[in-house]
Amino acid sequence: MADALIFIEALSLAVFALATFAFTISSIWEKERRAAFIGGVTFCILLGSEIGLFALKTAGFFQSIPGLLILLVGLVIPVATLLLLIRTGRNPRALQGTKGYIVREVERFDERDQVFARNRSLPPGSEQYRAFYTEHPQWEEHDAKRRERGGPLGGPGLIDKPHEGPNVAALFASFSIPPHLGSSHIVQPKAHPHFHEGRISLSPEEATNRVKGFALHLGADLVGIAELNPLWVYSRRGEIFWDNWEEWGTEIDITHKYAIVFAMEMSRDMVWAAPHTASAVESGVVYAKGAFIATELASFIANLGYSATANHLRHYDVLLVPMAVDAGLGELGRFGYLITREFGPRVRLGCVTTDLPLVPDRPVDIGIEDFCRVCNKCAHCCPSKSIPFDAPQEINGTLRWKLNAETCFDYWGKLGTDCNLCMRVCPWSHPRTLPHRLITGLVVRNRIARRLFSTMDDLFYGKRPKPASPPKWATYT
Ligand code: SF4
Ligand code: SF4
Repeated sequence: MADALIFIEALSLAVFALATFAFTISSIWEKERRAAFIGGVTFCILLGSEIGLFALKTAGFFQSIPGLLILLVGLVIPVATLLLLIRTGRNPRALQGTKGYIVREVERFDERDQVFARNRSLPPGSEQYRAFYTEHPQWEEHDAKRRERGGPLGGPGLIDKPHEGPNVAALFASFSIPPHLGSSHIVQPKAHPHFHEGRISLSPEEATNRVKGFALHLGADLVGIAELNPLWVYSRRGEIFWDNWEEWGTEIDITHKYAIVFAMEMSRDMVWAAPHTASAVESGVVYAKGAFIATELASFIANLGYSATANHLRHYDVLLVPMAVDAGLGELGRFGYLITREFGPRVRLGCVTTDLPLVPDRPVDIGIEDFCRVCNKCAHCCPSKSIPFDAPQEINGTLRWKLNAETCFDYWGKLGTDCNLCMRVCPWSHPRTLPHRLITGLVVRNRIARRLFSTMDDLFYGKRPKPASPPKWATYT
């Protein structure tokens, strides 16, 4: 019996040592010094234990009763690890997608109420300005102050000096593509004249494969299809970019049945510099990518003979996060972002709505709600205290977490960036190295793993991780 126990423990120590070694190397590559140090120390302890085990075996220690007892106690760790593989803590609510969040009647969101529409679009003194603030006097004074500061982003790049440096030049450049792609004839393209013959016949399965394949080819990292739930369509138009004021306040009524929702990974190196300019540059770059993908995809579908609308930074008909949940790309996290299994919240979203018949994907249960209940890291790290600590609350007929967008945007205004700190500190945002993939696999499966790794994330990366230096080309000077 002693020999069998020694074999099991030697094997498990070797597996743990190997995993810790891989984690340490990965942490060195990620430039996570604290994680690399703790990983390295743990690896040395495990290696020492392995050597000690064989030394004690050679000395015949395990033939004694104390030796046998130590072997039995040592068995606890491999057995506990195996238990982490068991699937527990399922969330049937998550498998229903956004329907699982709905507890009462939901009112569609009016785009005019959205902070960007209020501060970017409404010209003071205009008829629309008067109409809006007559209905919402509670926002007028605050919005006026925000406008004086330069809008929701305030002075771009304000947090970093000099404000006119190359980093701010990159920030402006990163947002330069979507404005070219937001006018109505581009977001709702017509078929190329070559396709005057009408529709190209495709089964829903083939159409799905083609649009998903094209989206991935264009640079999306994740793609899913959702049946379009009208609740997640804005009720009225609020963002005006081309003096098309006749559209302001008009009802948004789309007849499309499907939404192709895609997510694009944001560079971890850029996001790790949050809340500094580099992370906002990355937001702009990935929004531009989203505008490019959505525009080409909508054009492709128009050429197939169907109607399609691109949704991106300069044109939204739908709320992207609930659409992405319904398309099976991830779950809603504590700070209101989509959290994907692959990249956590470190993504930006884009979407194309269409009447092309497609095969919808199923929503997923990856354990986010349970993880967020114990984690709270984003709420602890949010400098403006905009993220709730408590359990999900009922908000407009849905049971969920909701960040305080007003205080969050006020903080953006002080920084001159879109902050992104919550995204940076989230334990799901780590890069997709083998050790992180293995940990994610356990966290998705097992409730205890969620508690264990939430605590370990604080231990290895700190409760309040500091901003990392951006890549050299994106430094502040
Ligand atoms: S972006 Fe910044 S201010 Fe806004 S919720 Fe996240 S951490 Fe808080
Ligand atoms: S930081 Fe923690 S609580 Fe916040 S979204 Fe990420 S997992 Fe959830």
